[in-house]
Amino acid sequence: MEYRVLARKYRPAVFADLIGQEVLVRTFANAIATGRIHHAFVLTGIRGIGKTTTARLIARALNCIGPDGNGGPTVSPCGVCTHCTMIAESRHPDVPEMDAASRTGVGDIRDLIDTVQYAPSSARYKIYIIDEVHMLSASAFNALLKTLEEPPPHVKFIFATTEARKIPVTILSRCQRFDLKRVGTEVLAAHLNAIAQKEGARLAPSALTLLAASAEGSVRDGLSLLDQAIAHQAQGGGDISEEEVRAMLGLADRSQVVALFTLLAQGEVAACLAQLRALHEAGADALMVLQDLLEFTHFVTRLKHVPALEKDIAYAEHERKAAAELAGALSVPVLARLWQMLLKGLAEARRAPLPVAAVEMVLVRAAYAAELPTPAEALRALEKKTEPPAAATAPAADIPPVESFADAVAALERAREMLLASQLRQFAAVVSFKPGALCLAMRMTTGRDFTSRLAAALWRATGLEWSVTLAETADSPTLHEQEMARKEKQKQEAAAHPLVESVLRQFPGAEIIEVKETA
Ligand SMILES: [Zn+2]
Repeated sequence: MEYRVLARKYRPAVFADLIGQEVLVRTFANAIATGRIHHAFVLTGIRGIGKTTTARLIARALNCIGPDGNGGPTVSPCGVCTHCTMIAESRHPDVPEMDAASRTGVGDIRDLIDTVQYAPSSARYKIYIIDEVHMLSASAFNALLKTLEEPPPHVKFIFATTEARKIPVTILSRCQRFDLKRVGTEVLAAHLNAIAQKEGARLAPSALTLLAASAEGSVRDGLSLLDQAIAHQAQGGGDISEEEVRAMLGLADRSQVVALFTLLAQGEVAACLAQLRALHEAGADALMVLQDLLEFTHFVTRLKHVPALEKDIAYAEHERKAAAELAGALSVPVLARLWQMLLKGLAEARRAPLPVAAVEMVLVRAAYAAELPTPAEALRALEKKTEPPAAATAPAADIPPVESFADAVAALERAREMLLASQLRQFAAVVSFKPGALCLAMRMTTGRDFTSRLAAALWRATGLEWSVTLAETADSPTLHEQEMARKEKQKQEAAAHPLVESVLRQFPGAEIIEVKETA
């Protein structure tokens, strides 16, 4: 039997098969039910999401005549009538398909528009499918616009594009737009599983999730990867495991990459190198690890500004959680520096005769840099140095007394334990505090050695011996929450001030952003 790649074999034949596109399907079904069918559609979405397939489905829905030849437009095209079959094989004379990527000129569009005025030869509608429509030249768009302004009743246009923002607004505003969504990892994994079963292949659930995540929301990519995985199994037999898929993709275990990133940010050079070695021995490409670190740095940085990204399906849930914690703990200058060092390092490592050694050197450099002050911090430190020296010079006398948890965190900051201090500010709820003994509930996952690292850092910062213990939960607010509450209270007090009140009245919509205390 002829072998067909899965992406073709399982191409959706009805709207119900379009996984993850419920909004599109519902909107289109409504249009058909009410008879209010737009004369032009724009389908947007990433490559491999199914734009062309959807375009052909719409064309079939509009032109289907049913098995008995008497049917009208339907959301469930029959798939057997002459129009359905010819459109599925993209050979229907009334449903021409054009790839704008190869035919961008005004001449190509004119040829096409010349045929618009003629009635369809056999189908209900003449439907023009134009793929990659954003590639058309400006004059080609202009020629198209005239037709879109007054289209003959028997004509429909379906435009597909990966870049809707490159289509002139004048065109877009005359189309009904459908955004094809990336398919969620869970939905795609379930889809791949169903198809694997039909093909008589068995994959571990974690292997399916990994394939789905690697496809980044594209059904076609997911099916191609599944094809590969099944071909791998043909040599082995038994369930396809996550490890096999990882090896096939040349991927490091991404949670290991997240762990490596955390070590890097903490400046743990030896642990970083051990982690890289372990990943390399497990079959991961060192350059890919660097690439993964770079991507993760980018993700953490974006998270700082766009918290909604916590739902980004490209990352597993526990990775997103770790990223959110790191975003809270690391400053933008530190992340930006890490990004630059990794980016520069990646370019170097690509040219290096020994890529693994080169990647090791990049990690050493980046780990040391994580401990360095940012330029702004260095400047502040310099300004402090120019102040007159304190009377006492013995080191222990420099340390202010530690009478509260806030004092302890401030001491850590002075000792340049920025990551620890920031983690404490954001995530630590105090259960009990006395100088030298601290019990905390951490609202983040902490490493096994967290308490010992914290105790050691506190000892260096305060000159006191510390015992640090962790509790499951605590009701007390974190320092960050206390600070937020303080600012909120300040704002409320400021808003009650007669002068501020009158300003707010005169400028409706104005709000208090920040309250600054003046000496
Ligand atoms: Zn049909």
